[in-house]
Amino acid sequence: MQMVTDIDILVSEVGPRDGLQSIDSVLPTSVKEKWISAQAAAGFREIEVGSFVPPKLLPQMADTAAIVAHARTIPGLQVAVLVPNLRGARDAIAAGANKISIPFSVSETHSLKNVRKSHAEMFEEVTRIAALIAATDPVTRPHFEAGLSTAFGCTLEGPVSEDLVLRSAERLMECGVAEVGLADTTGYANPAQVKRLVRKVKATVGENKLNSVHLHNTRGLGLANALAAIEEGITTIDSSLGGIGGCPFAPGASGNIVTEDLVFMLQAMGLETGIDIDKLLEVRTILSAALPDEPLYGFTPDAGLPRGFRGRTGKP
Ligand code: ZN
Repeated sequence: MQMVTDIDILVSEVGPRDGLQSIDSVLPTSVKEKWISAQAAAGFREIEVGSFVPPKLLPQMADTAAIVAHARTIPGLQVAVLVPNLRGARDAIAAGANKISIPFSVSETHSLKNVRKSHAEMFEEVTRIAALIAATDPVTRPHFEAGLSTAFGCTLEGPVSEDLVLRSAERLMECGVAEVGLADTTGYANPAQVKRLVRKVKATVGENKLNSVHLHNTRGLGLANALAAIEEGITTIDSSLGGIGGCPFAPGASGNIVTEDLVFMLQAMGLETGIDIDKLLEVRTILSAALPDEPLYGFTPDAGLPRGFRGRTGKP
């Protein structure tokens, strides 16, 4: 992970990937580019811009290589992508992504259904990707992270064993990832569980090898979970603009935690994000204009900022 010294929390925008892949509408490439540029201009340092999956499976992500190329022209932006396998990793490296994440479903049932691979097969795949990345030029070498998805529970298996999360994290590090992340793919997590699991995983893989969490707001606990993670030393939080994404199996439930609300909470607490919240709230209009039929979530955008709230926090 790049050393970030002037901010306390890195808010990683995942809307262009997690949000867009979960909705039916296909956002035109030009709109994605406009969105990513505007959000970077609002102060975002990392954006997950897409995933390298077969266009037949996810037509929303078919232009990811072009989006990466565009995002790479933005100075200082860490361009992250998601890959399900070695082929995706090859495409991501060719496109010039700075950060490559692979989801590893701790629930093996979910893994078999999602990427049609057992845990043993996933460990092999991750090892191959790590070797591929290790062979690239050190100057441009992407950061490689494995996201422990369904770590807090699975829609197919129900509860997921914490021991299995820890063993998976350990094994993934041995396979050659630079760090692991914890993902509440299903929106099952609660703050006590987040605290416990972050503590346990950090104790297993090393304090600096778990820095990020990926949370969904399915049951309204997203921000509480984010705060719990921060209190345990997590410094990168994924979120999506307008909480876009949703879940086809939970009507009315929003997708990722809402970027606008997360940034408001952090800055209201005096934590520096480097983000200009006024500019961030304007970025939302790009999405609402392009996706008029998709609900956008968030309390802060609806209520507005409190009187006298400073758009950008500044350390005294
Ligand atoms: Zn997600």
